[in-house]
Amino acid sequence: MELEVSQSTKELSFSISHDLSPYVSFSVDLGEDAGLYMEFMMKSPCYDAIPTSCKLVVFDTTLQIKKAFIALVANGVRAAALWDSKKNCFVGMLTITDFINILHRYYKAPMVQIYELEEHKIETWREVYLQSSFKPLIYISPGDSLFHAVYSLIKNKIHRLPVMDPVSGNILHILTHKRLLKFLRLFGDTLPRPHFLHRTIKELGIGTFRNIAVVQDTSSVYNALEIFVDRRVSALPVVNDYGQVVGLYSRFDVIHLAAQKLYNNLDISVGAALRLRSVCIEGVLMCFPHESLELIIDRIVREQVHRLVLVDEEHRPLGIVSLSDILQALVLTPAGLDRDSL
Ligand code: ADP
Ligand code: ADP
Ligand code: AMP
Repeated sequence: MELEVSQSTKELSFSISHDLSPYVSFSVDLGEDAGLYMEFMMKSPCYDAIPTSCKLVVFDTTLQIKKAFIALVANGVRAAALWDSKKNCFVGMLTITDFINILHRYYKAPMVQIYELEEHKIETWREVYLQSSFKPLIYISPGDSLFHAVYSLIKNKIHRLPVMDPVSGNILHILTHKRLLKFLRLFGDTLPRPHFLHRTIKELGIGTFRNIAVVQDTSSVYNALEIFVDRRVSALPVVNDYGQVVGLYSRFDVIHLAAQKLYNNLDISVGAALRLRSVCIEGVLMCFPHESLELIIDRIVREQVHRLVLVDEEHRPLGIVSLSDILQALVLTPAGLDRDSL
């Protein structure tokens, strides 16, 4: 195993690069029934994946940032749609990634109040932030296919896709990778069972196996935020001094800083932040190269997480198998839409 110091985040962060040739093949070829799930998703409208009732949180863009994130926690949701009352329409989303970007940009030192977080409105932040990366609201219609939804999530590198009624302009639901894979898992049972489900992750090469972003348990939370911002990954396997995976710090976990008002001290270690979470998954959900795709899909759906950490027998990280990777392989690649071509 080789530890590489990443230049942008200096000596505090590192990636893991392995010679993985004995473990995985890097090519996704699902064989003769490769197109089964792609066709099913092409035929199914988004409407079919919308639950009969769900909670939708909407914030006016004049709401103060700090109140918005505390309201996300209070409502137990991961994201909110943003309503601009001057334009009279939805203009974007507020997600935990935005919270991370704000903390990363404005944090100065422990116990120094983050003025921008305390005082700015969502619209003020968006004016600053959108200067560099303007993203109009990306949404989908209920009649559009689920194939289109997967394509839009993966192509735009987002995790929340509002389904908007074209007539009323109302948001009916916010689709996520989790919801889409769960739908495929449930309704896939009505389809013939594809052979590739029995093949191993090692054979199929589904996931990311190079340059895995990890964080040490003794590193600071600020350092983890830096890696999130630089690498744009959704979670970091947490490793000990021996390079073994001992935890997982996901973007979602950062919202606990808002819940517990800990955002004024980002110098605490990732290990300590993980122990301070009020509700959490015990341990790390992992998978091994010899496990079948079917087993991995079942585990990821059952545990309701966004990824499994691929490890060797000593629990050293070999890769990440994320919902994006599975949906990419089952739905987009069979349509000729490779990850690198999106
Ligand atoms: P998270 O994984 O934290 O929920 P995302 O990956 O979905 O966040 O969001 C990444 C960035 O893209 C954030 O700045 C967020 O506000 C923005 N974003 C997320 N979904 C959409 C969308 N449907 N339309 C436009 N911007 C979005
Ligand atoms: P989201 O629903 O926003 O995609 P995640 O699945 O990333 O959220 O995270 C939800 C919670 O599950 C977080 O507390 C995170 O640490 C935990 N979690 C996610 N993936 C794993 C994993 N592979 N092992 C252990 N915990 C995980
Ligand atoms: P996600 O944001 O989890 O939906 O994943 C988008 C892509 O990033 C997928 O190909 C993942 O395998 C990859 N990925 C997720 N986490 C990491 C990580 N910590 N290091 C490297 N790649 C990752």
